[in-house]
Amino acid sequence: MNAPVSIKQLAEPPPECVPRKCPACGDDTPARKGIGRDPWHMAQCGACKFLYLDALPVQEAFEGEFAWDATFVAEKKRRRQAQPIVQWLDEKTRWRLHVFPRPETRYFLERLARPGPVLDVGCGDGGHAMRLPEGYRPFGVEIAPRLAAKADAAFRTRGGQCLQGDAARAISRFEDRLFRGVMMNSYLEHEFWPLQVLKALRPKLMPGAPLIIKVPNAGSLNAKVMGGNWCGVRLPDHVNYFTWKSLSAMAEDAGYKVRAPFGVNLPTNDNMWAILTVDSSPPERS
Ligand SMILES: [Zn+2]
Repeated sequence: MNAPVSIKQLAEPPPECVPRKCPACGDDTPARKGIGRDPWHMAQCGACKFLYLDALPVQEAFEGEFAWDATFVAEKKRRRQAQPIVQWLDEKTRWRLHVFPRPETRYFLERLARPGPVLDVGCGDGGHAMRLPEGYRPFGVEIAPRLAAKADAAFRTRGGQCLQGDAARAISRFEDRLFRGVMMNSYLEHEFWPLQVLKALRPKLMPGAPLIIKVPNAGSLNAKVMGGNWCGVRLPDHVNYFTWKSLSAMAEDAGYKVRAPFGVNLPTNDNMWAILTVDSSPPERS
């Protein structure tokens, strides 16, 4: 684990902060939504309507001080201080999440992918993939070095490995058509270049292999009601804010067919899942 970032650190702009174009279409006409705090603001693309952070810390920062495991603690404290009652209510009513189905991403993988090599993109310490039954050979990609090392040690006990680095580059190092299934469990909302990662992954899938994606649903009821206090708004580590429509559009752009698992993506659920498979007539890769 990285040392938790202090609240003071989160409130101050990091030394290097770069403006960002729309990660879905490359357009540069962001309209801010009034959600965020300097220098992190949620914006909507003027061309394709994608929701994203219009400035980013430099990527290297995510390997250290802004790694999700460090920011999570500080962000929780900051929210409590900023909005104690709203936050308290949000936490105390978490039961509402359990009224509805809340499956784990690996549950879908187990049902849709045959045993063999599988990939967890943004695998953290490897804990999620290691809970797959014997027969699945876990591989991973993780940007935070300490987490990647831990995952690598675990995956090697089952014949897999974890590559450390930014996802698109790391994925390109795997051989083509290696994976029988891929998971992106609470990862794509963190990725600076989500479209490029989806494209890089496509040739690595065996024909018919599923890619299971879980992301916070920015179109959920809770997101609409809570605005900037919604649990899916985490600054600056959530850099993409997907709705079903924008997630489907990006997946199709990258050459996948998209479907939702039955009965899971209810408007009351803060998260949503998508199942992607390679389209038989994909657009040419750019
Ligand atoms: Zn756009």
